[in-house]
Order: sequence, then structure tokens, then C-alpha cells
Amino acid sequence: MAHILLVEDEENLHSFLKLELEYEGYEVTVSENGKEALELFHRNQYDMVLLDLMLPGINGLEVCRRIREESMVPIIMLTARDTVMDRITGLQLGADDYLPKPFDTQELLARMKGIFRRIQYTQTNDAVQLTFKDLKLDIMSRQVMRGSNTIELTNKEFELLHVFMKNINRVLTRDILLEQVWGYEHVVETNVVDVYIRYLRNKLDENNKEEYIQTVRGVGYVMRQ
Ligand code: CA
Repeated sequence: MAHILLVEDEENLHSFLKLELEYEGYEVTVSENGKEALELFHRNQYDMVLLDLMLPGINGLEVCRRIREESMVPIIMLTARDTVMDRITGLQLGADDYLPKPFDTQELLARMKGIFRRIQYTQTNDAVQLTFKDLKLDIMSRQVMRGSNTIELTNKEFELLHVFMKNINRVLTRDILLEQVWGYEHVVETNVVDVYIRYLRNKLDENNKEEYIQTVRGVGYVMRQ
């Protein structure tokens, strides 16, 4: 049974969500503030964190950043502030998904399942290790090396690189990348792909010379051997 850490200060919302999630078979621990959530996170093992943005004390973005310093646990940000800026900041800090309030419980459940499914997919499918030029991607340990250096990637960056490395020489459109990395159920702006390609390039290649991921103008991106 997946154990969910639900960090939400609005009592009506967290009691309702807890019941719904438990009904779906999840084990749920609720925390109403960021400080306690981080303490709980350090003491226990969670399979996913649902994280409100506006929290008393330490806010959701900061909680997300601190969790990411030590864990790749999936994080969905829940927030009333639906601005592109918040969304990009949340994703940049390593959140896997972002759901503006008010949201439908079914929508949340679909996104949670999507994330669990993708994690399982990247963990169990095909080769254990993929290589491209001097890059090595290990699927089991979710580790990426360039030569002998480890490259630290967020979940999404890792999944994006994984899709490229499974499709060497194949041009991938933004739609294909969105579908593979963010999932069918996820509606985000296609420029999220471009934003993530930029993050990934910066991490893979400090000079950002398109050495690894090349742009195919008007079509998408490719890793060409
Ligand atoms: Ca709140």
C-alpha cells in the first residue's frame, strides 16, 4: 500500500482528501505545516508527497526544495495560486506535477496513478543501463554519469533523458515528449518541454552547444549518434 504524506493546512480540505485517498487504498499521513512535514519526512518512508504551496511557517516551495536535496520521492504541488511563474518555480524545484485549486479529486487520483505508472515503467522496462557518447544512464539506481562525473537530475529531467536515450537518432516532437514524460492525462503548455530541455542541456553540457540534444527546427529534438 502506497503511503502518502499530505501537507495541507486547510482542515476541511485535508480531512476530505484523506478520506478519499484512504477509500482508494492509500495510507495517508496529514501534516498542517512545513516544519512538521519535513520532520515526518525524515522519520518515515513515503511513496508520494502532496504538497500545498501556501503553508504557515516554511512554505511549500521551500519544503519541496529541501525534500529534493535528499530524495527523489514524487511530489505533487497543490495550490490556489495558478500562475505560470509558480508552476515553473515548483517544477524547477523538482515537483513532478502541479494541480491548481480547486481541483476534482478524480483529477488528483489520475495524476497520482500516472506518476506511479511512469515510475514503474522506467524501473521495469528494457535495458538496465543506456549509453550515448560519454553519457551513461542507469535505470535501477536512476543515476546519470558523464564520463566519471555524476550528474544530478530531477525526476522529470531524468525521465526526459531516459526517453531520448531509448530513442537514439529518432526525432522526438514536443507532443511525444509531453506524452512520454508528463503522461496523457496531463495538460501543460508545450513550452514546458522547451524549459526542461534547457535545464537538461545546462546540466549535461556546460557550454550548451547542442552536443547531446540537438534542436530540429520546427519539429522537435533528437539525440543523434
Ligand atoms: Ca494553504
